[in-house]
Amino acid sequence: MTTLVDSHCHLDRLDLSPWDGELDGALAQAMEQGVGYFLCVSIDLEHYPELLAMAQKDPRIAVSVGVHPNERKGREPDAEELIALAAQPQVVAIGETGLDYFRCKEGEEGGLEWQRERFRQHIAAAKGSGKPLIIHMRDATEDTLRLLREEGADEVGGVMHCFVEDWAVAKRALDLNFDISFSGIVTFNSAKALKEVARKMPAERMLVETDAPYLAPVPHRGKPNYPAYVRHVAESIAQLRNTQWEAIAEQTTENFFRRFPAAARSRLQPAWRDPR
Ligand SMILES: [Zn+2]
Ligand SMILES: [Zn+2]
Repeated sequence: MTTLVDSHCHLDRLDLSPWDGELDGALAQAMEQGVGYFLCVSIDLEHYPELLAMAQKDPRIAVSVGVHPNERKGREPDAEELIALAAQPQVVAIGETGLDYFRCKEGEEGGLEWQRERFRQHIAAAKGSGKPLIIHMRDATEDTLRLLREEGADEVGGVMHCFVEDWAVAKRALDLNFDISFSGIVTFNSAKALKEVARKMPAERMLVETDAPYLAPVPHRGKPNYPAYVRHVAESIAQLRNTQWEAIAEQTTENFFRRFPAAARSRLQPAWRDPR
């Protein structure tokens, strides 16, 4: 069977009540839909040990390390600390990081320089560790792309996760050595510009994700999201590109392991079937 990768999910935040609180239930549901590998993305340093333990136990799971641009409560990392944490073989990326001017406003006291400084530390950590970046960009396109350029992020590259911009922005991200990851938003009828991006995207530069438990795709819109639903994202893109979802799965899985080579190295689990 074809295997999909959910390139961005928050497994520690899933609503696991349908499976008596067991993550294995959600992962089994995903396997039934052909989803066999999961990049569980870090939001803060406080929960990071829990994520790492998850990945150490289950070779289908890789993790990233970083602090989300909206996170205000936890510890502030510097590049040095992130590099040290990223030395674990299960850590395949730095993030999620970036800029979010939607939930944090420039007009607030002191402005948002703290967010940009945090972002710079993450870029430095990616360059120092050689692990690619997972970028969260919301209502902050120009500053995000500017900082990536200024800090030389193209040296390591990475992924623009949950991409929602138009083709012009997508092209600029591609030129900076960032792949584009599509989430359930591409299944929404209203997402016309994003559907155009999915049509035009070079096949070897796209990834798929759920961002579960957030942003459930059609037909689960408004309900809790699960990694299994990345299949809907792949089906939606396949329809836009006049192909089969299996072809999208094969391509995006290959892209994922090329973009995150550390994931290819830690992929040991016997149940894994290579799409080739
Ligand atoms: Zn995000
Ligand atoms: Zn996320």
